[in-house]
Amino acid sequence: MYLLQTVGIACPYCAESIEIVVDASMEQQQYIEDCSVCCRPIHLIVSVSDVGEIHMQVHDENDC
Ligand SMILES: [Zn+2]
Repeated sequence: MYLLQTVGIACPYCAESIEIVVDASMEQQQYIEDCSVCCRPIHLIVSVSDVGEIHMQVHDENDC
């Protein structure tokens, strides 16, 4: 299992697909990543299951 995984998401602002690199060694994390297309801050909530499956929730900053 690779600890760094690339996950595709849709930006909540501009709806473009962007790729986020996730550190799968942490079970639960949240952080802000700027969209590479529109540069607005995306609030990401990442959880990793026992089998290394990554679930990502994407919110805009007003959603927090
Ligand atoms: Zn965007």
